[in-house]
Amino acid sequence: MTDIAANLAEVLDGIDEACARAGRPEGSVKLVAVSKTKPAADVRAAYEAGQRIFGENYAQEFVGKAEALKDLDGIEWHFIGSLQRNKVRQVVPHAGLIQTIDSERLLREVVKRAGRAGRQIDVLVEVNVGREEQKAGVLPEQAGDLVGKVAEAEGVRCRGLMVLPPFELDPEEARPWFAGLRTLREKLGGEEILPELSMGMSADYPVAIEEGATMVRVGTAIFGWR
Ligand SMILES: *Cc1c(COP(=O)(O)O)cnc(C)c1O
Repeated sequence: MTDIAANLAEVLDGIDEACARAGRPEGSVKLVAVSKTKPAADVRAAYEAGQRIFGENYAQEFVGKAEALKDLDGIEWHFIGSLQRNKVRQVVPHAGLIQTIDSERLLREVVKRAGRAGRQIDVLVEVNVGREEQKAGVLPEQAGDLVGKVAEAEGVRCRGLMVLPPFELDPEEARPWFAGLRTLREKLGGEEILPELSMGMSADYPVAIEEGATMVRVGTAIFGWR
């Protein structure tokens, strides 16, 4: 059996240690517990151990768990998967943050649905730093344009940038990708305009924190293998 509370404590320690190494204040990194493919009971166990932010990749599963766990006060759901426009309507009412805005068409749909739901919604712009054909995200040189479009739009607020870099066996090899997202943020106006950098997963979140992540998305290290 996976000991979710013990795993969670270990990841939180890992986050604190990485903050200390990087000379960053404790509490400057938010943990998004990625619960995709795991049952709602696992999310509940993590919540009971103190975790509040959860990330999901698939619209149907996202909505199902958010509804099943409505009784959990202060729980926050982030959508971190690739979002189809025809799923935006379902996702918007439950999303505290949509991390994967990567086109103007998707943005327009989120704006429309946020308007109809009568709410403001926070988003991140996903950047394809590795320029991988099979991956979602805007190319780095297009990110500024999309960030600008979000800034002009009603009902959405751009909180920062998100990256899912090319897979590397050695977490050190991921460092330049994370640094690249931070550099891009500087180019686009810095942390006043884009406070959040969502980067780092189970295998490489300490490196991502050393490179400036404000949000790490950790699944396997908390909930076990999928
Ligand atoms: C699944 C997933 C994660 C978590 O990955 P782990 O390696 O299990 O920590 C983080 N971000 C995204 C976008 C994911 O799809």
